[in-house]
Amino acid sequence: MLKVRFAPSPTGPLHIGGARSALFNYLLARKENGVFIVRSEDTDLERSSRESEHNILEALRWLNIPWDEGIEVGGDNGPYRQTERLALYQEYTDKLLASGNAYYCYCSEEELEQERQDLIAKGDTPRYLGKCRHLSEEEHKKYKEEGRKPVVRFQVPEGRQIVINDRVRGEVIFDSDGIGDYVIVKSDGIPTYNFAVVIDDTTMNVTHVIRGEEHLSNTPRQVLIYQALGLPTPEFAHISLILNTEGRKMSKRDGDTAVIDYQAKGYLPEAVVNFIALMGWSPAGEEEFFTLEEMIPAFSLDRVSKSPAVFDLNKLNYMNAHYIKKADPDRLTDLAVPYLQEMGVISQGTLSEGDRAWVTHYVQAIINHLSYIAQVKDFVHYVRGGEVPAPEGEALEILQGEQVPAVLDLFVEKLKGLDTISVDTVKPLFKQITKEMKLGGKQVFMPIRVALTGQMHGPELYDIVPLLGLDNVLSRLERTQA
Ligand code: GLU
Repeated sequence: MLKVRFAPSPTGPLHIGGARSALFNYLLARKENGVFIVRSEDTDLERSSRESEHNILEALRWLNIPWDEGIEVGGDNGPYRQTERLALYQEYTDKLLASGNAYYCYCSEEELEQERQDLIAKGDTPRYLGKCRHLSEEEHKKYKEEGRKPVVRFQVPEGRQIVINDRVRGEVIFDSDGIGDYVIVKSDGIPTYNFAVVIDDTTMNVTHVIRGEEHLSNTPRQVLIYQALGLPTPEFAHISLILNTEGRKMSKRDGDTAVIDYQAKGYLPEAVVNFIALMGWSPAGEEEFFTLEEMIPAFSLDRVSKSPAVFDLNKLNYMNAHYIKKADPDRLTDLAVPYLQEMGVISQGTLSEGDRAWVTHYVQAIINHLSYIAQVKDFVHYVRGGEVPAPEGEALEILQGEQVPAVLDLFVEKLKGLDTISVDTVKPLFKQITKEMKLGGKQVFMPIRVALTGQMHGPELYDIVPLLGLDNVLSRLERTQA
């Protein structure tokens, strides 16, 4: 049975790249009726935290990527945090020590640094040359008495080719001679990533390791451990780096890289997931909009590209705008409320029915202008009392037209004659005025628009008027005519 896993280090939020690894693993598991595990690589004691772990899991849940086995879900192969698996790693360390594939090393930081410098000076690759490989009993004793705390190093076999048939990158060959004996257990007894990940993957029966390309150079180190333990290696698939639109590796400087940043701005998870899936995976047909359900049968590692993926924010915005237009109005209302409350546009706490109806109408009125929900803040000035930006240039000229005072007067008169102000009652007024004054449509609605908003573009007038309410409309019109 296919088993895959996502194994984040809980040292910060879930980034877009991590979310993509999780998603590809999840999609493959679902497609193949396999199992998707989520576990935590928390051996970096200083930088790891339960809070980060919690945030990563929350971000996965927000994206609607569930897991079958692992943290919070449980399973037969737990515990699922590396710090809770130390006894298991010890067993395998003992095996490697007993078989001569690993050894204790007492070299100090200074000695290692000296070795590095010497190799660099000779133009050689800096690596550990195996000084402690063959220490005698006495030497062990002597070092221990000096109070040195050993690390455990893996003894890299000489002259071995490590061939990886990567499902994305094809055949990748590494030479063991460049690697140097690496640490598998630190002096505090905590295993390193390259060791712990192998023990986790093997004891959890992981069949496919799908992860970011930045781990490709770790893979030969891991393969050597599998080989030394006489264990089969899983299949590997290294997915490409994510670049910004300028072709550089995506970093914090390019804006938001954490999934939660997009959640905070009011992106819809289905849009984010769809966008992330297309960074590296290209579906067979022309269609680019996929729900998670639709992605599952369409996904395959064969269609994951080895060339770098590009993070294009415009594309994400375009996709998100598409999903916003399709979303249930009630859901959008719920999402918009906090931003409007934060601005003081509607009151905090439980929403009155009137406020809720107002927000729903407002969001629908501006829906074609929204790339993400936080942008509801940008259109409030059209539809709430208070200052209107002073019209300038062409907009100002529109207000200076000869007919304008008469148009505005008639509009006020008609509005005052209405029993209720709503889209349905306001909509016919513009046509009536056009007819009665024998003017073109534009000559009627443009001055009203500019008088109400200060601008020539924006949401529909028949939305703006009821959203503003009669009092605000009248005071804005009076101000124009003053
Ligand atoms: N903890 C690693 C990371 O967050 C994952 C390594 C792996 O998937 O093997 O990048």
